[in-house]
Amino acid sequence: MTLRPTQDGAASRLLIVGPQGSGKGTQGIRIAEAFGIPAISTGDVFRGAVAAGTELGLQVQAIIAAGDLVSDELTSAVVRDRLAQPDAAHGFLLDGYPRNLAQVRSLDEFLDGRGQELDAVIELDVPRDESIARLSLRATEQGRTDDTEEVIANRLAIYERETSPILDVYRDRGIVDVIDGLGSLDEITDRVIAALEARGMSRPAAA
Ligand code: ADP
Repeated sequence: MTLRPTQDGAASRLLIVGPQGSGKGTQGIRIAEAFGIPAISTGDVFRGAVAAGTELGLQVQAIIAAGDLVSDELTSAVVRDRLAQPDAAHGFLLDGYPRNLAQVRSLDEFLDGRGQELDAVIELDVPRDESIARLSLRATEQGRTDDTEEVIANRLAIYERETSPILDVYRDRGIVDVIDGLGSLDEITDRVIAALEARGMSRPAAA
């Protein structure tokens, strides 16, 4: 394994990938906190816009409800805006973006322009049956409108078809860590932190 030092030393630019129900949202927040970087979830940004009734929200509402993907153009513009904010200057953890090959190219272009690159991609590995069981539970608990059986099936199919291939691209770059996503929340967080530390990433010293 080759260690690739980041240009600005302490930066950690991370992506977490996993099927719906893999727990990537929860783990993303925990890992971002551990490394002192913002967790940026496109799903959360879109849901927030819908809830607030903004123009972006109105544009994406029906698409999200059907479990389809928002256009690459709109999604990439939203992410670029977010990544340009000062708190993301020294690292970030992306959750839910990039989600297909076109978005990978768009992110590469944006980061290239800033002399940056992704440092690591965490692939949360969870068997399909387990993801479906977790999603059904979340549907009852949180009442997310895109957690109905039919919409879940659509989102999982899109994941297999469009999102899985992005992992091959990142694997070729040698930056993917496959993490077993079964176990307690703490166990999984610890596994991810250990994998990132093995890549030379360091957490900020405890206050
Ligand atoms: P999940 O991964 O469980 O489907 P997310 O919270 O990541 O949930 O995303 C919810 C919805 O937001 C997606 O179904 C899609 O409509 C939209 N979305 C999120 N990220 C993207 C993206 N990168 N490209 C296009 N649409 C997206």
